[in-house]
Amino acid sequence: MNIASLGEFGLIGRIAERAAARDGVRCGIGDDAAALEPSPGRVQLVTSDMLLEGIHFDLSFTTPEQLGRKSLAVNLSDMAAMGGKSRWFLLSLGLPAASDVEFLDRFVSGMLAMADRHGVALVGGDTCSSRSGLVISITLMGEQLAEKVVYRNGAKPGDLICVTGSLGDSALGLEELRRGVREGGAVSRHLDPVPRCSEGLLLAEAGIPSAMIDVSDGLLADLGHILECSGGGARVEIDRLPLSGYFRDHAPKLCNDPFSLALAGGEDYELLFTLAPDRWHDAENLFSSMESRATVIGEINADGGIQAAFPTGELYRSDHKGFRHF
Ligand code: ADP
Ligand code: MG
Repeated sequence: MNIASLGEFGLIGRIAERAAARDGVRCGIGDDAAALEPSPGRVQLVTSDMLLEGIHFDLSFTTPEQLGRKSLAVNLSDMAAMGGKSRWFLLSLGLPAASDVEFLDRFVSGMLAMADRHGVALVGGDTCSSRSGLVISITLMGEQLAEKVVYRNGAKPGDLICVTGSLGDSALGLEELRRGVREGGAVSRHLDPVPRCSEGLLLAEAGIPSAMIDVSDGLLADLGHILECSGGGARVEIDRLPLSGYFRDHAPKLCNDPFSLALAGGEDYELLFTLAPDRWHDAENLFSSMESRATVIGEINADGGIQAAFPTGELYRSDHKGFRHF
């Protein structure tokens, strides 16, 4: 069955009946606007991300469940990068009339499973028909105490630069998908990113990061965004980049410049943050208590620009500065 035969309201009803009730939702799907009750004393954080078929995803690579999870995960990652706690989201869809109802059901299943895992509620959205492929737009709302929110503008010369998890796997996975590989560690990092929600929240609550961003455009590009807001420059030591075992084994076979995947490849959805050197011990304890990992990869300085240096002192040069839409 295709969604045209279901109709707009049939379709909304089908999504609504699966959306779980949660705290703070006075009124969810079904009225002109949702009525939400933020926790007292917290500022609201709101973020939105749009995913377009053919630009952000390829339906021949991803399962509907993966696409549902990833659509929400990229927003959860932005919220984590502010140090916020995610609470509610809106889902807006542009659907080709010929879309399959089974596809939609599976997409919603993946998305709502991700929502459950992070305690966030689907409270509304919008639904339209699309003449140019599938369009997914999610707006996620979260909250945090005003003084705990982490911005991009707080990095200072002498601060350490840290990143969670590992870099480059997603870009490697996309390259593998283009070459016909359909599974493995890197492919799943690309199709099924894990947002670092507890890491971002706990770092912020402990007041550790001076600046934070999630790595969606590529390490160098996103570090550049921190510097645009904070001023100063940065030096990154290439031999300190956290690379997964899978990446070390497979990237050199596929790519003659594997470091470019880790430095400039997008969509890792790791957290990149800076902190005063005397807070590193606290950060280490926090990560070991979470069974998660963070690595110091360099330092903020007072110069301009970013230097990425090999152990020999030679600097990395590339024209590839991360994903750009225009
Ligand atoms: P309006 O005409 O006021 O925009 P709609 O008919 O678009 O209202 O939406 C009716 C209800 O369904 C609203 O609560 C809206 O938030 C919700 N809704 C619409 N599309 C979606 C969707 N894709 N996912 C979740 N909720 C949706
Ligand atoms: Mg509407």
